Amino acid sequence: MTKSCDACRYNEFPEILYTLSDDKYTYVLCPNCLTPFVAHGLHSNLWKVLIKKFPDSFNLHDDFYDDEGNALQPAWDIHYHIPPWVPKG
Ligand SMILES: [Zn+2]
Repeated sequence: MTKSCDACRYNEFPEILYTLSDDKYTYVLCPNCLTPFVAHGLHSNLWKVLIKKFPDSFNLHDDFYDDEGNALQPAWDIHYHIPPWVPKG
């Protein structure tokens, strides 16, 4: 099975995918998604993809995002690039 980004499903260059873990889950993220993930500033479309896979994730929980996946307190301003294959939420 090809490794791909858990958020945007990027898999063109699997060698640049990052794996990171918290105490509950292990995430595979591309460079484009890694930064907003750790900053708690994901675009709502990507948040919706991730929350389905990782429903109890500390990094996605409701101190950081509202019910629609809007970031409430991103650590810094994020400039998004949402790949066209990400489902519109
Ligand atoms: Zn990604």
